[in-house]
Amino acid sequence: MGAVETGAHHLRSHTPTSLAALWPDLPLDDTLTRRILARVVGDDRDDLEGVRGLPRRLEREIAARSRTDRLEVVDRRASRIDPFVKYLFRALDGSVFEAVRIPLERPRWSVCVSSQAGCALGCEFCETGRLGFERDLEAWEIVEQVLTVRREGPERPVTGVVFQGQGEPFRNYENVIRAAEILRHPCGGRIGGDRITISTVGVLPMIERYTEEGHPYRLILSLTSALPDKRARLVPLARRHPVEALAAAMRRHAQRRGGPVNLAWVMMAGINTGADEARELGRLFAGVKVRLSAIDVNDPTGRFRAPSDEERSRFFSALADNGIGFVRRYSGGADIHAACGTLAGRATGGLAIPSPPSGGKGQG
Ligand code: SF4
Repeated sequence: MGAVETGAHHLRSHTPTSLAALWPDLPLDDTLTRRILARVVGDDRDDLEGVRGLPRRLEREIAARSRTDRLEVVDRRASRIDPFVKYLFRALDGSVFEAVRIPLERPRWSVCVSSQAGCALGCEFCETGRLGFERDLEAWEIVEQVLTVRREGPERPVTGVVFQGQGEPFRNYENVIRAAEILRHPCGGRIGGDRITISTVGVLPMIERYTEEGHPYRLILSLTSALPDKRARLVPLARRHPVEALAAAMRRHAQRRGGPVNLAWVMMAGINTGADEARELGRLFAGVKVRLSAIDVNDPTGRFRAPSDEERSRFFSALADNGIGFVRRYSGGADIHAACGTLAGRATGGLAIPSPPSGGKGQG
């Protein structure tokens, strides 16, 4: 096992249910497929040796039809200004993408994962968008980002995952949902569903599908402007999925799920921190509870700047006046380009961390 075969199924891309359905000719019941997931994801192993109740012949047959290779960790870089670590991964086809280890207040890790290599959506304020799109990540490539952090930082448990790295998660819907299921599964990643967050810039049909399917993961709409013309300039996708329709979809989602509407807002000086934005938010979400996470823009090109303290306070007062609940979020790892919107496949700044003796399994 571990050899790469074209077309072979990666075992870490499967839930117990999908694995049982994959090979109907094999006698794989739910107990066995759960044990297989526990072995390759829960225990982070590459072989099925010693899986209880799995006959040797069946083990060999699964090994012949599947793969368990790893991503190569090309670089690990620790921030000098806060305890963030950025991982740069390379897949077998040469695609590179990143994950960021985020320290939580209680001694735990959260992992910001990429769902695509690059991104096709080209948001003006985002460096990933300037890279262009390479490809969708497979479910196992997303799961592996989390397993790497878990393996290399065993001093804290990984209790959260946020799909906010490279890519638009709802442009790779099936693989993202599959990866989230594997990470949540009690035999897999064992991460609470409510601790897994999917952040979208607004792929309307997928928000609707996601609501319909009733997944337990938290959904955030990265809105960044409530004014249609401005949003269309900042987020090209907004020309296809207008703000008004997105707001209605998020209201329906919140109603169905029974929580607030979660929004993310990348604050840019002189652009989207005015009272007009707050008023429009108040109108769009009148009568619904909103939780807006406001974060300063990080733009290494200098085109967009974070607001001054005064500008930010004025915006927050305007939000409060319009009934919009907000929290200020800090984006860490600016020196290693780990901050939101700056994931662009580079290994610069900070402190390079050598490969741990037991970690970095690499490919194959
Ligand atoms: S903000 Fe998200 S959707 Fe927009 S270009 Fe960046 S990665 Fe893509």
